[in-house]
Amino acid sequence: MARYTGSVCRLCRRENLKLFLKGDRCYSDKCAFDRRGYPPGQHGQRRRGKISDYGVQLREKQKVKRMYGLSEGQFRLFFQRADRQKGITGTNLLVQLECRLDNVVYRLGFVNSRTQGRHFVRHSHFLVNGRKVNIPSYTVEVGDIISIREKSRTIQAIGDALDAVVRRGVPQWLELEKEGMKGVMKMLPVREDMTMPMQEQLIVELYSK
Ligand code: SF4
Repeated sequence: MARYTGSVCRLCRRENLKLFLKGDRCYSDKCAFDRRGYPPGQHGQRRRGKISDYGVQLREKQKVKRMYGLSEGQFRLFFQRADRQKGITGTNLLVQLECRLDNVVYRLGFVNSRTQGRHFVRHSHFLVNGRKVNIPSYTVEVGDIISIREKSRTIQAIGDALDAVVRRGVPQWLELEKEGMKGVMKMLPVREDMTMPMQEQLIVELYSK
């Protein structure tokens, strides 16, 4: 499926939830969801009709997929991998998504959004255990040290993101050493660490049809 290149604020309005896809703007009074919290399009302000079980499952999958900025194919691959693992498939899926490098640099506060995280990873601004990694889907493991490359430490956007990290906070499974511009994954995230409203069981039901 082609990559979505339209306005990402429309996605928040479609999913009826702030997905925090635009960094600082999401926390400002310019947030489109705060200003127009109804679905996009000509009929957006009409009363929402009753939605089928399938529709509920589909919306949940779309929401999580969009939150992490993945295409359908990428998301399905993550699901298949989660399904093969031991444990609860839905939780496995979310843990895998959290461990992506583009998400980890976002959670550590090196960037303002996952989109920016993916962009900066692609441009090799980060090191994992001292080695350059430019694959956004790279899976970070417990004990891995993620740092900002020496040459990239003066990038304004990274400095701004680090200044704003207090607002978002760093989850307990990561540890940020702000002065050293590095962080470590102390442990795997657990379900309670993912605070955005997500009903992963609905995604499992959708893909199990
Ligand atoms: Fe969503 Fe952020 Fe746009 Fe608000 S500003 S609608 S949270 S992407």
